[in-house]
Amino acid sequence: MGPVPEPLTAPPDATSDHRVELLERGPFLLARCSCGWAAPARRSRPLARNEARTHAAGA
Ligand SMILES: [Zn+2]
Repeated sequence: MGPVPEPLTAPPDATSDHRVELLERGPFLLARCSCGWAAPARRSRPLARNEARTHAAGA
């Protein structure tokens, strides 16, 4: 049949082995990765996301 369509639900960091998830802990947000890495709880969501992204990028 035709070509297989690419999945539209692939996360932006699909090329990385790091699967970071953001966990809500009350007013805090903390990032955890499948590799065992974890960021300290942050009150700032943008900061937590930025840390998660930085880690997933290999920094
Ligand atoms: Zn990781």
